[in-house]
Amino acid sequence: MTDHVVAARAALHMWEEPCLSGEKGSGAVFFSGCPLQCVFCQNRPIALGKAGKEISVQRLADIFLELRDQGANNINLVTPTHFVPQIIEAVRRARTAGLSIPIVYNTGSYENPETISMLEGTADIFLPDLKFRDPEIAERYAGAPDYFETACRAIGEMVRIAGEPEFNSDGILQKGVIVRHMILPGHTKDSEDIIRYLHERYGSRIFISIMNQYTPMEGIGKDYPELARKVTKREYDKVLSYAIDLGVENAYYQNGGTAKESFIPAFDGEGI
Ligand code: SF4
Repeated sequence: MTDHVVAARAALHMWEEPCLSGEKGSGAVFFSGCPLQCVFCQNRPIALGKAGKEISVQRLADIFLELRDQGANNINLVTPTHFVPQIIEAVRRARTAGLSIPIVYNTGSYENPETISMLEGTADIFLPDLKFRDPEIAERYAGAPDYFETACRAIGEMVRIAGEPEFNSDGILQKGVIVRHMILPGHTKDSEDIIRYLHERYGSRIFISIMNQYTPMEGIGKDYPELARKVTKREYDKVLSYAIDLGVENAYYQNGGTAKESFIPAFDGEGI
C-alpha cells in the first residue's frame, strides 16, 4: 500500500465479541491491504489491497463521527497496521470534534512493537489475533515463519498500553486486550499451545476469544486439502476443554453456526 489510506467498508458490525458489538454494533472500518497473506483469508480482495477507495485523513475522521452518530459502541479499525500514522491524525481530529467512544485496534498482529507504541494515547482497546505457534504452520499458511515471536512482541506492547480490561455499566469494553485465536481444522495442538502461552503469560489481564468460525474458501482444497473442511465440534470442544482445565476464566467462545460465508460482510464501499 502507499501512504494514501484505502478503505473498503465502514458500517456497524454486529458479530464481534458481545462486549464490543453489544446491541448497537461496533463501528467497523475495513482498511485495504494486510501485512500477512493468509492462504485461508476470508477478506482476500481487501487483504490484497484490490478492493476499496482512497480517502483523505479528514474523510476518515468524518467516517468515525458518522459511525458514532449511527450509535456505534466504538470505532473498530480492522487491519489498520500500515495506516497507523494517518489513523492517529484522523482520531485526533475526530476527538477534537467530539468523538469520545473507545478506539479498537483490530489486527492480525504481524507488526513491529514500535508501530504499537505509536498508538499510546490513541487506541483504547486492542483486538489482536494470535494465529500460529509452530513456525512450519505459519510458513505454510502465511509465509511468515517468524509470526509467533513477532506477534507476541506486538501483543506484549498492547497489554502494556491498554492495561487490564474495564467495562462500562452496560458491559461494553472501554479498555483492555482481547486476543483472538481461530482454530484451524486438524491443528488443535497448535491452538492448545497458543492458549497455554497466553494464559501463562497474562492470566486474567487479558481476554482470550477462542473461535470456531473457520470457513474454507472456494478452491483452497487444491493446494491445502487439510483446510478444505470446517472445524468439527469434537475439535472445538477439545480446545475449549483444554482451556477450562488450564484455568482460563476470561474467555469468549462461539456457539454453532458461525462458519458461514454469509457472516463475511460485503466490501462494496458502504460508508466510505
Ligand atoms: S491477517 Fe487476517 S486479513 Fe490479513 S491475510 Fe490473514 S486472515 Fe486475511
